[in-house]
Amino acid sequence: MATFEELGLDARLVQATDALGFKQPTPIQEQAIPVLLSGTKDLVGLAQTGTGKTAAFALPLLQLVAVENKYPLALVVCPTRELCLQIVNEIELFKKFLPGMHAIAVYGGTSIGMQIRDLKRGIQIVVATPGRLIDLIERKAINLEQIKYVVLDEADEMLNMGFKDDIEFILQNTPKREATWLFSATMPPEIRRVSKKYMQQPVEITVGKMNTANKNVDHQYYVASAHHRYETLKRLIDFNPGIYGLIFTRTKADAQNIAEKLTREGYDIDALHGDLTQQQRDKVMGEFREKTLQLLIATDVAARGIDVQGITHVINYELPDDVEVYTHRSGRTGRAGNTGICLSIVHSREIGKLRQIERIVQVPFHKLEIPGGKEVCRKQFFYFMEKLLQTDISHGDYETYVPMIAEKFADISKEEILKRVAAMEFDRFLKYYENAEDLNLRERTRDFRTEGPRIGGDRRERIPARETGREPRGREFSGGSGDFAKLFVNLGTKDGFYKASFLQFILDMSELRKEVLGRIDMKEMNSWIEIERSAANQMIRAIDGKNYKGRRIRMNDANSR
Ligand code: ADP
Ligand code: MG
Repeated sequence: MATFEELGLDARLVQATDALGFKQPTPIQEQAIPVLLSGTKDLVGLAQTGTGKTAAFALPLLQLVAVENKYPLALVVCPTRELCLQIVNEIELFKKFLPGMHAIAVYGGTSIGMQIRDLKRGIQIVVATPGRLIDLIERKAINLEQIKYVVLDEADEMLNMGFKDDIEFILQNTPKREATWLFSATMPPEIRRVSKKYMQQPVEITVGKMNTANKNVDHQYYVASAHHRYETLKRLIDFNPGIYGLIFTRTKADAQNIAEKLTREGYDIDALHGDLTQQQRDKVMGEFREKTLQLLIATDVAARGIDVQGITHVINYELPDDVEVYTHRSGRTGRAGNTGICLSIVHSREIGKLRQIERIVQVPFHKLEIPGGKEVCRKQFFYFMEKLLQTDISHGDYETYVPMIAEKFADISKEEILKRVAAMEFDRFLKYYENAEDLNLRERTRDFRTEGPRIGGDRRERIPARETGREPRGREFSGGSGDFAKLFVNLGTKDGFYKASFLQFILDMSELRKEVLGRIDMKEMNSWIEIERSAANQMIRAIDGKNYKGRRIRMNDANSR
């Protein structure tokens, strides 16, 4: 793998990538940067979201554009205001060691006068949304005469948003355009047409499979009836304490209503959609970015291209109609080598649509049960206890209070104190979930997961009895009664499994209930499953010798080998 230096980047730019902690170029950067630096005119770069396309064009631009010029030489066009700001922010970081280089974001919804003034300040790089840019062109407030480099970022999104004519207009109005670089996550035919018309023999770079979702993302879904959607969302949020999540709705009204409802119920959430003023949008985005806001609920248009670090979960409140929209949504998590989870709440009628998405993105989706009240409480409880243990007490002046506290608590045992702390924190949850409904859709639906017909008639969805007292899994909680066998299986995290999805997978295949399982130990290539001895053979029979993604699954008793 090459270093940034080896790609031909100027030392000052390499210094900036170092400062950002970029250890090595991503694949799209590794391939695109040398080509762009070599003066190649046109390029089409296709790579999934989160693969570092911004740096792939921004670094070469910063090297090619001469600081001495005090007029716009490079133009980056992208679909939304948020993206504009994000790109300029990133350019700011890259040009840290290039004095005299200036970039500006130009977008609608804010004072055009200010932007016109800023444009006259000798900037070299303009990052713009199509609408505002055309506004500026028509007012003759921006001079594109000298533009040599045009970058179309998130080109597929721009076309999806109906900016095709605008983009063509912009391309036609850059007479001195020498190089056109187009970046996109997907390659719909319209893009091909635009590139044919406005680009000359572009070098085409494709990284990974186009149209496929990011492999670092685990795709999970929950089947719920339409009138349980909101309740399901709430439960999934509660089941994931510490979530830093982005929720997608199809409509502005949904985003707004759900945000309001959840806020009233004490959740840390806000909405981002087109009906907000720009100031409101900025405020919401800023808070989310800084993690002072835990959850953001957004429409697709408003959240397009947003790159926020560390999003743990993307939640589809409803499935989008387009596969591509799904890819974009799920691409908000699992970025820059991190893992992430994309959850979809689907109605049984949408399973067909889900399968269609699954086929096109070529990643298996994992069906999970909507957690019950007990599971949610348990999860919250352990999370809280973990937090309690991790609390940093090294800074405060707590020592001085200790004698006082000790006196006050003298007659109460440690257990008692812990119980009280738990009660204080959990009363709300316990009360709420005390008699929580089972939200899983228990219709006798066909399980679409298995391919091909199964011997013995239709396979019905498992209808597990909702257990009450027993803990879902983990040997230490199961009363320790069972005589466990340990199974080996040649599937692991490399196959795209997470513990939860793996559990669901083996249970689905074997039609066993999760109560029979003990500890599951997952490694990259293999896993070990503890299972009640009486159920072990059924699992082996159901799974051993079957295929998973074209590979033969091997499962056997780990101790008999
Ligand atoms: P894309 O445009 O392909 O969706 P971005 O350009 O927004 O992706 O990059 C996603 C994230 O990865 C950003 O936060 C960016 O700072 C980070 N990133 C980009 N290149 C590298 C690199 N070489 N090493 C580490 N992180 C990187
Ligand atoms: Mg991008």
